[in-house]
Amino acid sequence: MAQDTQNFKVSEFTCHCGCGTNIIDQRVMNIAQIIRKAVGVPVHVNSGCRCEKYNLAVGGTKGSYHTKGLAADLSSSIGGGRLFSVIADLKARGKLPELQYIIYYIKKDFVHIDCGKTRNIFFEVRP
Ligand SMILES: [Zn+2]
Ligand SMILES: [Zn+2]
Repeated sequence: MAQDTQNFKVSEFTCHCGCGTNIIDQRVMNIAQIIRKAVGVPVHVNSGCRCEKYNLAVGGTKGSYHTKGLAADLSSSIGGGRLFSVIADLKARGKLPELQYIIYYIKKDFVHIDCGKTRNIFFEVRP
């Protein structure tokens, strides 16, 4: 079981469907904390862990890292675009070695982060 960080409770990463699923990986929480500190204002966990059923219901890909406790979707009052920039900058400066991938969803204005496998590119922007 993961431990709360300074600004995040493990419970904020529980599946939203009410099933109680929460296998959030400590690395995801630690990354969220480093991002929170860099941003300087509250960062909201839109989605953390998801059971398979809920993951499919919200349009997640089958076997998504959210179902493995390895991903979170984050938003902030500074806006998703700036949040994305802050995260990319932290990564470039070597501050987030365990973060493997980020996706900025423009319309929904949030950033997906995950500790899945290392991919050829680090970030992606989707409409
Ligand atoms: Zn669920
Ligand atoms: Zn996500």
